Amino acid sequence: MKALQYREIGSAPVVVDVPTPGPGAGEVLLKVTAAGVCHSDIAVMSWPAEQMPYELPLTLGHEGAGTVAAVGAGVKGVEVGDSVAVYGPWGCGRCIKCAAGEENYCLRAAELGIWPPGLGSPGAIAEYMIVDDARHLVQLMDLDPVSTVSLTDAGLTPYHAVKGSLPKLTPGSTAVVIGTGGLGHVAVQLLRALTAARVIALDVNEDKLDLARKVGAHDAVMSDEHAAQRVKELTGGVGAQAVFDFVGAEPTVAIAGACAGVESDVVIVGIGGGMLPVGFGELPYEATVRAPYWGSRDELIEVFELARSGLVDVHVETYSLDEAPRAYERLHHGQINGRAVILPNG
Ligand code: NAD
Ligand code: ZN
Ligand code: ZN
Repeated sequence: MKALQYREIGSAPVVVDVPTPGPGAGEVLLKVTAAGVCHSDIAVMSWPAEQMPYELPLTLGHEGAGTVAAVGAGVKGVEVGDSVAVYGPWGCGRCIKCAAGEENYCLRAAELGIWPPGLGSPGAIAEYMIVDDARHLVQLMDLDPVSTVSLTDAGLTPYHAVKGSLPKLTPGSTAVVIGTGGLGHVAVQLLRALTAARVIALDVNEDKLDLARKVGAHDAVMSDEHAAQRVKELTGGVGAQAVFDFVGAEPTVAIAGACAGVESDVVIVGIGGGMLPVGFGELPYEATVRAPYWGSRDELIEVFELARSGLVDVHVETYSLDEAPRAYERLHHGQINGRAVILPNG
């Protein structure tokens, strides 16, 4: 089968032929319908050898959806032909975090060598993929896999981030979304669907700001040295009750801290390496800073329910598997508006 692999440190990903896998006991083989392209892969491919935790070559893609092609011995709960999406942050299934559905925070995954697909295990940008356990699948039923595959990360990650701040996002409050790309343009929609907060979007690209307005941002502001001041003005000097940073770089964490209000949440989701000083007097009184990772299994089901209700809609650009390297190239250059989705069998 064909797969998109990151093969050598510092090189671009390439489409290669690899053996089609078969499902072992307890595993599920999917014929991949759609696979999303996340900016985290760009970060992974920028790491030097000494920082790389995964073995190469690595088949990319941690957002996947497909139809069940075969099941291994003992698999229950899915049938050949089912249309499913993959919950990516695989855990051990047994620790106290996994028992609560929070496999993203599994206490034993590292020790047991359990890696998410595309981030250590073979990923979804291939004609077929192996899913380690049927509990990591969500039935799509009537949902279109192409337009919803990215809910498994670009939906689930902002959903988890926003859900944690809901108590602060009361009517009259303000939420700021920094970086309205794949994750951020879904975050805007989630905030509109789940809260009465005013939503202010920040980006450096006019097309992304237009998309943010289109999907429901009340205000869209250029993310420059005046951005925090602009947010202060728009909030009558008070600042935002929650700031979600989907870039996480030096300039954006500074903006996030500067436009936060008292008792606010500053939620750093982007992995851009920015540092925000925390200490008495650095941030407004009683501000909380969080850096969440992905989301839980129950939250993924909730995100798909929001899509079923028509409350979230991922803006997608589709590519064939052969065009997948170009999708990464375009993402790297900030040219994807919304999410790039690869159709490996399209
Ligand atoms: P993306 O490229 O689709 O979107 C990033 C957006 O940020 C783009 O619209 C870009 O124009 C904008 N941007 C760049 N610099 C900016 C600046 N200075 N100010 C404001 N906006 C700016 O990326 P994505 O796939 O949505 O991922 C977003 C970030 O989240 C990445 O860092 C990714 O690695 C990370 N991520 C984290 C998790 C997690 O669990 N914590 C999960 C998925 C992705
Ligand atoms: Zn991701
Ligand atoms: Zn666990």
